[in-house]
Amino acid sequence: LATASTSPKINVNVGTIGHIDHGKTTLTSAITRVQAKKGFAKHIKFDEIDKGKEEKKRGITINVAHIGYESPARRYSHTDCPGHSDFIKNMICGTSQMDVAVLVIAATDGVMEQTKEHLILAKQVGVKNMVIFINKADLVEEDVLDLVEIEARELLTIHGFDGDATPVIRGSALAALEGQDISCIDRLLEALDSLPEPDRNDKDTFVMPIGSKTAITGRGTVIVGTLERGILKKGDKVEIKGDGQTLQTTASDIHVFGKSVKEVRAGDHCGVLCRGVKAETVRRGMWAGHPGAITITNRVKVELYLLSEAENGRKIGIRTGFTDKMYCSTWDQVGRFDMNNELLMPGEHTSATVLLMKDMPLRKGMPFTLREGSSKTTIARGIISDLEE
Ligand code: GDP
Ligand code: MG
Repeated sequence: LATASTSPKINVNVGTIGHIDHGKTTLTSAITRVQAKKGFAKHIKFDEIDKGKEEKKRGITINVAHIGYESPARRYSHTDCPGHSDFIKNMICGTSQMDVAVLVIAATDGVMEQTKEHLILAKQVGVKNMVIFINKADLVEEDVLDLVEIEARELLTIHGFDGDATPVIRGSALAALEGQDISCIDRLLEALDSLPEPDRNDKDTFVMPIGSKTAITGRGTVIVGTLERGILKKGDKVEIKGDGQTLQTTASDIHVFGKSVKEVRAGDHCGVLCRGVKAETVRRGMWAGHPGAITITNRVKVELYLLSEAENGRKIGIRTGFTDKMYCSTWDQVGRFDMNNELLMPGEHTSATVLLMKDMPLRKGMPFTLREGSSKTTIARGIISDLEE
């Protein structure tokens, strides 16, 4: 980006969602055009975002455009997808979780099927904030906009968002893109800037999935992993959980690249010497954390996407009750998938409840895969939507 700012801006992941042809791509392009005029973006033309069909690769294919722009306060990483199935896959299987979704609703149509489906899924996968953009205001009367706003706020409330407090912007993405009236983009950016800062997992409570371990005779066990969140200080009390067990210990030493350090934080790869812990009681896949930071359970709710045959997935569907190994974080565990659908076909998605053989460490929003056969090919991807203790 052209802008050189002195203090680092926080990054917010935003995405456009909503029914086909309601103006998501037009709006995305319009934002970059308006912000480019202020030196806060590079204008990305409509055709550069919506490139049409991409070449199919092996493995999961999500056609998604990643676009960057800034406001004076924040940096935004924006995703827009060309097709309905890409939106679904991006939410369930995508690598970066949206902090904010801009729900685009064309005033000419109001709330449609995909408006609802995207909104419900956004809630399930843990999107915290929503902004409504009522588009195509140039084509309708004022009272139609009022009606669509009421309808949209009700829909949000029904599906667990705060419909009354959600910012609603009315405008014409096309008019903004053509430079006729850009005020709706300014209001949209103001609304985005006013949302709470995303929780970037660097709050104090420490959590670390265990990748490996080494016994230190007479002193305990060194557990090795990458801190997922928080800060761990030498001398902190630590709990190790998983495989149905909970062990209590103390971090008597912390090592990074072979050197002893006083503390480590989210993203750091380290070894933690756990006083008095027997190596044979710790297994890869268990998690270490501050007391109370980790939940272990064997029952979770998930959103599941079954890869299509073209994505190297199965040729045939799976039935509810499907049982296979689920891979999550550093662990794997056999799970039974009780699905909302009796039969899930390749290329489709569903909500499901998973019953695991043992209590495992889990948290909302974690991605997982299902792998099958001796080659361990991935047949499904998913995200944990809720824990049931
Ligand atoms: P998407 O499928 O949600 O990404 O929708 P597009 O951005 O591709 O827009 C679909 C069609 O609606 C295109 O022909 C746009 O030019 C048109 N469109 C988008 N926004 C507006 C608007 O504010 N007013 C009018 N009149 N047309 C719009
Ligand atoms: Mg589009």
